[in-house]
Amino acid sequence: MDIQRETLDVDILVVGAGPAGLAFGLHLAELVKKSGGVVAMPEVVIIEKGSYPGAHSLSGAVLDPRALKKLIPDYLDRDMPYEKKAGRDSLYYLTENSRVKFPFMPKPFNNDGNYIISLNKFTGWLAEMVEAAEINIFPGTGGIELLIEDNRVVGVRTVDMGLDKDGNPKDNFEPGSILKAKVTVLTEGVRGSLTREACTKLNLDEGKMPQQYLTGVKEIWEIRPGRLQDGEIMHTFGWPLPSEDYGGGFVYDMGGNMAAVGYAVGLNSSNPTNDPHFRFQQFKTHALVKKIFEGGKMLHYGAKTIPEGGYYSMPRLYHDGLLLAGDSAGFLNAQRLKGVHLAMESGMMAAETVFEALKKDDFSAATLKTMQDIFEQSEAAQELYQVRNFHAGFEDGLYAGMIQAGLQMITKGRGLVDRRVVEPDYEHMKKLNEYITDRGVNAVKHDMKFDNEYLFDKLTDVYHSGTKHEEEQPSHLVIADFDICNNQCTEEYGNPCQYFCPAQVYEMVEDEQNPGKKKLQLTPSNCIHCKTCDIADPYQIITWVVPEGGGGPNFTNC
Ligand SMILES: Cc1cc2nc3c(=O)[nH]c(=O)nc-3n(C[C@H](O)[C@H](O)[C@H](O)COP(=O)(O)OP(=O)(O)OC[C@H]3O[C@@H](n4cnc5c(N)ncnc54)[C@H](O)[C@@H]3O)c2cc1C
Repeated sequence: MDIQRETLDVDILVVGAGPAGLAFGLHLAELVKKSGGVVAMPEVVIIEKGSYPGAHSLSGAVLDPRALKKLIPDYLDRDMPYEKKAGRDSLYYLTENSRVKFPFMPKPFNNDGNYIISLNKFTGWLAEMVEAAEINIFPGTGGIELLIEDNRVVGVRTVDMGLDKDGNPKDNFEPGSILKAKVTVLTEGVRGSLTREACTKLNLDEGKMPQQYLTGVKEIWEIRPGRLQDGEIMHTFGWPLPSEDYGGGFVYDMGGNMAAVGYAVGLNSSNPTNDPHFRFQQFKTHALVKKIFEGGKMLHYGAKTIPEGGYYSMPRLYHDGLLLAGDSAGFLNAQRLKGVHLAMESGMMAAETVFEALKKDDFSAATLKTMQDIFEQSEAAQELYQVRNFHAGFEDGLYAGMIQAGLQMITKGRGLVDRRVVEPDYEHMKKLNEYITDRGVNAVKHDMKFDNEYLFDKLTDVYHSGTKHEEEQPSHLVIADFDICNNQCTEEYGNPCQYFCPAQVYEMVEDEQNPGKKKLQLTPSNCIHCKTCDIADPYQIITWVVPEGGGGPNFTNC
């Protein structure tokens, strides 16, 4: 199909209006203002696939205000939205029927001075300030292709609107635009689809360890009064995960009888039926959690992956015409499960880099390398370097991991083994037969009864994520070979997609053409943009691409 596309030239293009992209915009505007006319304000455009800034934002979230203090020193006077100041902190090791409370909080887990926030609200607040600084945010605009000319990034193509399921134009067809820029800043969050393209085509992750991911699943509840203390923060590890799997749970008081409850599970599990949503529901049956939430009402749901590989998994942060920041570049402290402050700091580093590039009118890799230099000298680099081996330390399971984590604390992050080589998450998955032989058939039972009052099935939860997609559009979950799904994968792994997806996008249904056989059925309109499938599929034949603009979740209070 020969499509005429509009080309728009801007100075700077940012992909993703999360904390990283918005901090970039705000800090750049501030630097230009402070330059007193030495540098003119460039035209900056931020595109965001969500229908408004914050619609696709999901986090825990306990915010370390370090970056905020630098970016907006008077943030409290400017009504920074927060639910509660961090109050009592506790850490538990759980078994199915008991719990052991840590007698003290290890320093990295201490949340004194932090805030419990909703990332939706926080992102919306940042976006208002960015727009007030005369930076354009285009919501409902997904970047679908990174434009590279002569090994230089020159911009992004945005997604077409109004195609039918087979890719044919409908009456409302509107071709995506070509957005050309001197520099493109990718702040797409975790497992960014353009970032992935950049890493592959421009070798940004050459010599780096593969990124390691978790899937975090959460619900927001209205709870009965008095069930949590003011600003209470609770973290757990252990049950319901077996000791060889990585992950843990959290409960945060949000004030006004609201609370967040969540569970994050490593995607490096050897279990082909690894199901983060199921583990989350199991977690809610523990007495410690149940006594808080029972009798309350679930209001909202969401899930998202978390990049936990850390310092050694971070790609190169620059290329000709390109910068990376935030979760897209792996700016997340796995030990503290915190990335918002690092996303913001890295956005600010990108702004400082672009400010220098504007002065020189040079956006080549030689100038944009400033980003890497600023990072290596920063507090953020120190923080990430101290925990560089944290996630990899748990490769041999929980107990070995705890010993490693303890050793890392007294050896400035080194632990027993520095830069332990780890495989990509999906390579850990065992074939079903091997797994059952190792673990026993009970290990793969999904035997929970969802009453949809306290324990929710995936579909009911998805309903509470506010997810909406245009049904009549090409699938944004692109399966390279259905034959592998319906035959080889069924035999070898038992179709793990039906378990790892927390939104019931993937189901095995009766194949009417072949009685007695099942085939994969996709429901892309359920997708909550968590990216788990793109990461966890053992054959790596699922590619997540951006759907029509504005489609996806509408996370609330998440
Ligand atoms: C369950 C869970 C709990 C967490 N708990 C905490 C916590 O307690 N404290 C903490 O500090 N951190 C926490 N984090 C991590 C934190 O949320 C992230 O580190 C942070 O949000 C990263 O910010 P970002 O701007 O890089 O990405 P994001 O916040 O993900 O924003 C990226 C934006 O880019 C948009 N986008 C993506 N691709 C495209 C595209 N191609 N075109 C257009 N737009 C695009 C997305 O829609 C999104 O709005 C948690 C994360 C999860 C999932």
